[in-house]
Amino acid sequence: MEAIQEQLDKLKTAKHACLDCGKRNGDYSARDPQFFVAECPLCGKQTKVTSAEHFGFFYRGLCRLRIHKARMERNARAQSKSA
Ligand SMILES: [Zn+2]
Repeated sequence: MEAIQEQLDKLKTAKHACLDCGKRNGDYSARDPQFFVAECPLCGKQTKVTSAEHFGFFYRGLCRLRIHKARMERNARAQSKSA
């Protein structure tokens, strides 16, 4: 559960990301993105990154993680009830 929360927090606070992480978590829509070399906050690699806004601020990834988290919580509740 912590792992998902951690990922959520990372996505929420990330100001930029590399192309791989950005495309995995959002819709890449930049026409003329400005890349600079920095540590990607999502994968920790020192690489070319660009602003979170070019990935829709990771909206898709955040939605997916929230749904995943809700499902895990529901499963945990169901399990504790049947135990
Ligand atoms: Zn990355």
